[in-house]
Amino acid sequence: MSFFLFVFLFFLCIFLNEKCRVGVNSVCEQNNKPYDAALIRGNTESVTRNSVFNCCCAAEELTSTWSWNLVVVFLGFDPSTPQKGPNSFSSMANLARNNKILLELVQRPGNNVCADCSAPEPDWASYTLGVFVCLNCSGMHRNLPSVSKVKSIRLDYWDSSLVEFMQKRGNSEAKAIFEKCVPTFFYKPRQNDCIVLKDQWIRAKYERREFTGENNRFLQIYTSEQFESPMWKKGRVNKQFLKRNFLLSQRDFTLKYFIKEDSKVPKAVISMKDLNADFQPEKIGHPHGLQISYSEDDHTRNLFVYHDDGQTVVTFFNAIRATRLAYLLRKHQTLRNSDDATEKGFAFIGSESHGYSVSACSGQSKRGGRWRWGIFLKTPDREYVFMCEQESEQKEWIEAFRKIISQPMTPEDYANEANLRRGK
Ligand SMILES: [Zn+2]
Repeated sequence: MSFFLFVFLFFLCIFLNEKCRVGVNSVCEQNNKPYDAALIRGNTESVTRNSVFNCCCAAEELTSTWSWNLVVVFLGFDPSTPQKGPNSFSSMANLARNNKILLELVQRPGNNVCADCSAPEPDWASYTLGVFVCLNCSGMHRNLPSVSKVKSIRLDYWDSSLVEFMQKRGNSEAKAIFEKCVPTFFYKPRQNDCIVLKDQWIRAKYERREFTGENNRFLQIYTSEQFESPMWKKGRVNKQFLKRNFLLSQRDFTLKYFIKEDSKVPKAVISMKDLNADFQPEKIGHPHGLQISYSEDDHTRNLFVYHDDGQTVVTFFNAIRATRLAYLLRKHQTLRNSDDATEKGFAFIGSESHGYSVSACSGQSKRGGRWRWGIFLKTPDREYVFMCEQESEQKEWIEAFRKIISQPMTPEDYANEANLRRGK
């Protein structure tokens, strides 16, 4: 069977060798830095019985300087089974009944969070795309009338054929289509992220269809050896924004900027080593304001930039992430060959009667209180602690784990368990 596609990466502790065992109260030491949990991210629908954790050595800088949502843990791959809806409702014209069906549909796993920003309890839906979205994202869908048309699932009239389509499609099915190939570095916005990030995510997904796998034109842009973009940059002395040309390079892993378009000599050359980027609209005074931080002479320096075009600034942001990730992977490759590198880990998720369980735990001390929502996964071999940023995510992950654990094991599962254990 070929589950196990995916990604990767680093993180803090966990796995492997027995002295590195992780429990609720235990602490794993990696490079003498104490860690006690890993941030869990990814698609809960990809939780499978045979989940693979493919994790490597976590350099401290990954967690301290890079926006830590890049710290990804997880998981097995399982092509999701399309949900089969109830029988055709085309003959029904009863408004109340159709709305009732929608209210029931929106409570199902996958549909119970916004398809675009994961906000809980969405009560709008795009009936052309077949996704349930929050009020906020529905407004952004409205700006794309050629691809998306939205209605309130409570207040608007729904034709039976549209309800039938919502039953067939739904958020999970739509995700399999529109988020089929989201690159690892690409930032998926959350509920509380700024508007430009969410708006561009929605446009990238549905309007430009960047992640459907139809072509890799967009991926090539983000990951090209040289990525160039103009930005308005705030002057250090006079605080005025002036147009500068920025150049990202995956050849030497630098970010340079030039005062004039035809300048040969850059005004600054910044290493990707300590670079971080974060949208800060209020601080910068522009809805597309981006803060770029880096270290220089033991000081943290900042560049404040924006671009009036949302797509330009978000593409620049994701190109920075792509370059930064390429830098880390290159560095990680070296680490992997050294004694510091930890191996890959596998986790089989069995059934309750075989000693597997999952529960919520608090994690108030983790990452300065930012990782508050913990998950405690117990297997006969060891215990794992994962942290979520939001309570809704914690619930979603626990539900995904429980779903697997509550199922009895098949003979094939027993074989997989044995194979995975042997692979350790
Ligand atoms: Zn939303």
